[in-house]
Amino acid sequence: MDLSNLKRRGLMFVLSSPSGAGKTTITRALLERNEELRVSVSATTRTKREGEKNGKDYFFIDIPTFNQMIEGDEMLEYARVFDNYYGTPRQPVEEALSQGKDVIFDIDWQGTQQLAEMARDDLVTVFILPPSHEELEKRLRNRALDTKETEEQILGRMEKASSEMSHYSEYDYVIINKDIETSIEKAQTILDAERMKRHRLTGTSTFVRGLMGGL
Ligand code: 5GP
Repeated sequence: MDLSNLKRRGLMFVLSSPSGAGKTTITRALLERNEELRVSVSATTRTKREGEKNGKDYFFIDIPTFNQMIEGDEMLEYARVFDNYYGTPRQPVEEALSQGKDVIFDIDWQGTQQLAEMARDDLVTVFILPPSHEELEKRLRNRALDTKETEEQILGRMEKASSEMSHYSEYDYVIINKDIETSIEKAQTILDAERMKRHRLTGTSTFVRGLMGGL
């Protein structure tokens, strides 16, 4: 029997966390390890940080373009985070899912809620927490050295981190990121298990009929 016909529905894998909890590192590692995983590149109105690439980290667009995309129903979800707008372009996600690929999203709790409303069955959500507030503060301060943020901006991030974390209980899974390698393994385990969920294995009934018919 040709097992390549065992079709599976692609899933939408959402990782959310306060900034500085390790989400970007985990996303990158999963992308390297999983050939059939695609990343959703968001659009944003915020200015590009040093080292970021248009089309890779984000699509950096202006507010009128962002509004046009909303009006044209080209955003799967969108939200205001800090003082900027962020949104998920619809087309690449739909294309990947229709090809049976999985898509990973780095979006906040507002976007996660919107995706849950439209596609709960295809959604798997993971919240990443830092191991302690001291560690989170340390990571935010280290990052601020690179991005040259002011003390006020750092304090603003810490406040946002706290409000983002208050939404952890809306997620399917929680990973406390004490050790990055262990956390990557945990995220991979979730992905592997979710891929085996029966309702995602759309080709199984034909396969099982074949098995039964052969007896
Ligand atoms: P940053 O500006 O640090 O790259 O991202 C700030 C926050 O915006 C992060 O918590 C990130 O998860 C969130 N974010 C990034 N892209 C999207 C998006 O497309 N939709 C939503 N709702 N949030 C996003």
